[in-house]
Amino acid sequence: MSATIIDGKAFALKVRGKVADHVARLKADHGITPGLAVVLVGSDPASEVYVRSKGKATNEAGMKSVEHRLEADTSEADLLRLIDDLNNDVTIHGILVQLPLPDHLNEDLVINSINPAKDVDGFHISNVGLLGTGQKSMVPCTPLGCLMMLREQHGSLSGLDAVVIGRSNIVGKPMAQLLLGDSCTVTIAHSRTKDLAETVRRADIVVAAVGRPEMVPGDWIKPGATVIDVGINRLDAPERGEGNTRLVGDVNFASASEVAGAITPVPGGVGPMTIACLLANTVTACSRANDLDEPEGLTA
Ligand code: NDP
Repeated sequence: MSATIIDGKAFALKVRGKVADHVARLKADHGITPGLAVVLVGSDPASEVYVRSKGKATNEAGMKSVEHRLEADTSEADLLRLIDDLNNDVTIHGILVQLPLPDHLNEDLVINSINPAKDVDGFHISNVGLLGTGQKSMVPCTPLGCLMMLREQHGSLSGLDAVVIGRSNIVGKPMAQLLLGDSCTVTIAHSRTKDLAETVRRADIVVAAVGRPEMVPGDWIKPGATVIDVGINRLDAPERGEGNTRLVGDVNFASASEVAGAITPVPGGVGPMTIACLLANTVTACSRANDLDEPEGLTA
């Protein structure tokens, strides 16, 4: 069997199109422009790239984008003051503090100082609790993107066996909550799971969020299963010339795509959906803040 390749790039463009449509309606009908503020502390090169692409995507969707770049030695008090200003700024509907933060800053304290209604990353403890109890919340972008792709692939997920490999707060745990919310039977696997291969073999849906290059081989996959590969691992690729690298996921794409029913590639799968869902969360936050209808198909 050769799997259907789930084209995350194309799907993300569709999501971004829906966001732009909703933004245009908010502007035309209500005179409201959704605004996203991104805060970057320090100059980590990978974070710089993410922040730039988030700003560009926000502008392309017709939203207001604000970037706050702070020195690496910014004090916690100054950062908290900025977040407080953004919490009180009615033109800002989403606030994202780019992680990781420099060591002297308490990440939990900083994230939990964001107004939960503007927490478009979905990391605030209130949003974690709301998601865990099945209530309306801001949902972390990467798992939200995975859920959207799974719904598109399957329609209803009800009753399906799902295995999430990885139990991080930003991917594994919220992913499991979302799948449970859609009535899957969910197993969360991690580094202490006893027989991972057998656990994965039972699953109709496999979400791999580990950070270990190609650790899930094709013979772990149940024939016809849907495989969502969240992992992003950069490997040396001397075959492409000195100093070159290539990206691979947590799943061995070559062997898994022979067995799976559908699979996301790396790159071009989950990655593009993450930014699309950040935009979706911002327009959702803006709609909620103004007591307006939420955009259809862009929330959990
Ligand atoms: P973390 O390092 O926070 O979590 C990794 C998880 O994998 C942990 O729960 C760990 O278990 C588990 N794990 C480690 N080794 C094994 C093993 N041998 N068998 C089973 N489970 C194992 O990673 P993240 O959740 O932040 O990210 C996971 C991957 O997803 C990374 O490659 C990251 O780059 C990528 N990512 C991609 C995004 C995108 O937009 N596409 C966004 C976010 C992340 P334990 O808890 O027991 O240690």
